[in-house]
Amino acid sequence: MSAAEPPPPPACDHGNPRCRARPVRLYPCGWRCEEHQPARTRPYFRADQ
Ligand SMILES: [Zn+2]
Repeated sequence: MSAAEPPPPPACDHGNPRCRARPVRLYPCGWRCEEHQPARTRPYFRADQ
């Protein structure tokens, strides 16, 4: 009866309407997909070249 609702699966919060792409990562600014991740943090791609 008092069970909490399951949280919706995370999706990209960027844009309006939201991008909704996945997979996403949680950043200080919210969930962002690979394409919309903050410029300063690049967990998907690294500019090591
Ligand atoms: Zn996105």
